[in-house]
Amino acid sequence: MPVPAIEKKPETEKVAIIGAGPAGLSAAYFLVKKGYHPTIFDKAPYAGGMLRFGIPDYRLPPAILDQEINYIKKLGVEIQLNVPVGKDRPVAGLFKEGFKSRVSGSRRVEKA
Ligand SMILES: Cc1cc2nc3c(=O)[nH]c(=O)nc-3n(C[C@H](O)[C@H](O)[C@H](O)COP(=O)(O)OP(=O)(O)OC[C@H]3O[C@@H](n4cnc5c(N)ncnc54)[C@H](O)[C@@H]3O)c2cc1C
Repeated sequence: MPVPAIEKKPETEKVAIIGAGPAGLSAAYFLVKKGYHPTIFDKAPYAGGMLRFGIPDYRLPPAILDQEINYIKKLGVEIQLNVPVGKDRPVAGLFKEGFKSRVSGSRRVEKA
């Protein structure tokens, strides 16, 4: 799928998204299309959340999931895997790193 022209907001408009399941991936997709700079952190070694680990391959082939995730990455979303946010990497630290907002898997948004 071709990547559409996206008018990017300033680099400071960074959004931290915790969880690369469908909720986090969808949030990142719509935010990047609005010009924001989303980074997804996931504690798992693969993106996709329950789509990857819970839904059988015959219902959702991993190649299709990878294609969708790669398209989201091509739009400009950064995905950092093996990064558990919480005790070892507190949410408050993300704001100190320059993220202005965060979206959690439960879709709650907090502003810095
Ligand atoms: C067995 C099973 C079968 C299902 N089958 C279907 C189906 O056929 N069709 C359908 O539509 N839905 C199905 N669902 C439901 C669907 O999978 C969920 O509704 C959907 O995955 C929820 O998305 P989510 O992004 O909110 O959460 P998740 O998919 O659970 O993703 C959350 C992500 O956040 C990450 N995470 C959690 N805590 C942290 C942390 N502290 N730091 C960093 N990362 C973190 C996790 O590693 C995970 O990748 C099924 C669910 C299950 C369990």
